[in-house]
Amino acid sequence: MSELRYPDERGADMNKAYTGGCACGAIRFEIVGEPLVSNDCQCRDCQRMSGTGHGSYLTFHRKGVKHSGEAKLWDILGDSGNVKTRAFCPACGSPVYLTFAAMPDVFTVHAASLDDPSRFKPQMVTYGVRGHAWDHLDPALPKFDKMPPM
Ligand SMILES: [Zn+2]
Ligand SMILES: [Zn+2]
Repeated sequence: MSELRYPDERGADMNKAYTGGCACGAIRFEIVGEPLVSNDCQCRDCQRMSGTGHGSYLTFHRKGVKHSGEAKLWDILGDSGNVKTRAFCPACGSPVYLTFAAMPDVFTVHAASLDDPSRFKPQMVTYGVRGHAWDHLDPALPKFDKMPPM
């Protein structure tokens, strides 16, 4: 993902921040800027983490991110071979955000942790090769076996 192009920043302050947090409210975030990428991921990690067929994510440039509250952090070696750190609330257990050791400039939040989850507009499905027949996502979305080349 090192070649991700960042959206034009000139209008960023005029956009409404993306706000959200965990179910109990102990962890909150506020993000200025538009997502670099929005995806549904069907890898096994996301299945286990979500308790269902996939995770849904918005990934932002880290510079627009503010967060508060003490998250519990858990490092996991992803299918990609890179370490990702999952941040979840120790009180309510909600997964809230993710960071990646190999990509320190990005910050990923779970779509349903947004105060307004309707702002999630998935662009693609990743790790479709791991998907289950019962986890039926929008067939119009491009589906990648693993991660797309970026
Ligand atoms: Zn919580
Ligand atoms: Zn995944």
